[in-house]
Amino acid sequence: MSPSSPLADVRDRIAAAAKIARRKPDAITLIAISKMHSADAIAPLIAEGQRVFGENRVQEAQAKWPALKAAHPDIELHLVGQLQSNKADDAVAVFDAIHSVDRVSLVTALARAMNKAGRRVPCFLQVNIGAEEQKGGCAIADLPELLAAVRAADLPLAGLMCVPPADIEAAPFFALLAKLADDHGLTGMAAGGLSMGMSGDFEVAIQLGATHVRVGSALFGARA
Ligand SMILES: *Cc1c(COP(=O)(O)O)cnc(C)c1O
Repeated sequence: MSPSSPLADVRDRIAAAAKIARRKPDAITLIAISKMHSADAIAPLIAEGQRVFGENRVQEAQAKWPALKAAHPDIELHLVGQLQSNKADDAVAVFDAIHSVDRVSLVTALARAMNKAGRRVPCFLQVNIGAEEQKGGCAIADLPELLAAVRAADLPLAGLMCVPPADIEAAPFFALLAKLADDHGLTGMAAGGLSMGMSGDFEVAIQLGATHVRVGSALFGARA
């Protein structure tokens, strides 16, 4: 049976990867990364039942999503890109999860924004897993301090997130993120999330424990 759409294809591939890993497919959340794609491009995925989407910029999300969310209140919107502390209020208002918490000052800003809004938005801590310069994410060595800040601020912790270096095998980096989660006691439904895997590598990420895969181009085609 040939898949009828890119979404159906990605869902099939997630199910196949989960089966190989002896995991339940519904333990893996597909986040459709719709950055740089219009509401018109997003509509067919919503029509096919996709409800979890991701964007990498606060402003773009503010422009695109309030109308779509008003029409489909069960949509969940995740922020997967860098966040400046001065946009914390806006991010807390428009997003339902944040994957890019990577420094103590941002923890403080988000905790304040969530208290002000009376809204708790689950947060993933982004780890700079390949120790790349100019890449988002906290250094592995700084993760204990960041976790302590999250706990002190009572920020809702969803788990860890990474974007491995481009153009080299991602699997060792996914395995390392999973080990870091384990080392820090981040397990179970609440804080044991692992946001890892994109269009090119989500199957191997699932085999290594991903709970959230962030898939853009495999669903929407190449970005301009
Ligand atoms: C754009 C983006 C993705 C999706 O990338 P694709 O290769 O198009 O699947 C995933 N995660 C982050 C953080 C992104 O910025």
